[in-house]
Amino acid sequence: MSKIICIANQKGGVGKTTTAINLAAALAAAERPTLLVDIDPQGNATSGVGVDKSQLQHSVYDLLINEADPASLVVETGHPYLHILPATADLAGAELELATETGREQKLKNALSLLQERYRYILIDCPPSLSLLTVNAMTAADTVLIPLQCEFYAMEGLSQILNTIRLVQKGLNPRIAIEGILLTMADARNRLSKDVEDEIRVHFPKEAFEVVIPRNVRLSEAPSHGKPIIYYDITSKGATAYLQLARELIQREVTSA
Ligand code: ADP
Ligand code: MG
Repeated sequence: MSKIICIANQKGGVGKTTTAINLAAALAAAERPTLLVDIDPQGNATSGVGVDKSQLQHSVYDLLINEADPASLVVETGHPYLHILPATADLAGAELELATETGREQKLKNALSLLQERYRYILIDCPPSLSLLTVNAMTAADTVLIPLQCEFYAMEGLSQILNTIRLVQKGLNPRIAIEGILLTMADARNRLSKDVEDEIRVHFPKEAFEVVIPRNVRLSEAPSHGKPIIYYDITSKGATAYLQLARELIQREVTSA
């Protein structure tokens, strides 16, 4: 059975997609069969693993709206153990189309349950909102991984998403848990960055991952080459950090089992 991890934060630009791509690739490199699920209409996770969106006939849209067979939508990435359920721009319309359907929050959960035997990890890259798409992801997920940018408003944003998780837990998905809080785009020379980290560690000692993702230009270059960081520049600080994140995640599971 797979573990389904939803990567969410209602803020854009905090490192959700970067984390989804690079954590998925690092888990796959550790020979854990991994499925990356792109539910952001921008499709950045899809192009980030080298899939050409203009060539796609079908996407996660067909799974949500047309109840297509999820296995038929899975695309190989060229990297061993890493597959993707891709997103295309038509996903932007899915929100409205789903709004009047019964069981609208359960569509992704139902679809992914058909793939659980094949993968050890399923990572869902969410759009920057707490919309029906994100609620679908939280309903399907075992855990939520929250990337948090080391900046002044980080704590405020965090309480919003924790509230949403609590609401989902009360109604749609009682078993949902927090996988962890991941500090991203940290700048070692910046006092504020360090202060945010300290504050998060005081309030969320168990949830905060030990590893902090540094601001690293190689991480921002890799997507335009359609490569996860470990295939773009394995010597970069970004690659080291995401490999460590994968290790921590695997280790946490071993410890809690
Ligand atoms: P989100 O999915 O939350 O909107 P992204 O992962 O797309 O955020 O990141 C936003 C932008 O910041 C992208 O251009 C990405 O390449 C860049 N970025 C993300 N993480 C880092 C990092 N650790 N160092 C440098 N640039 C980063
Ligand atoms: Mg994104």
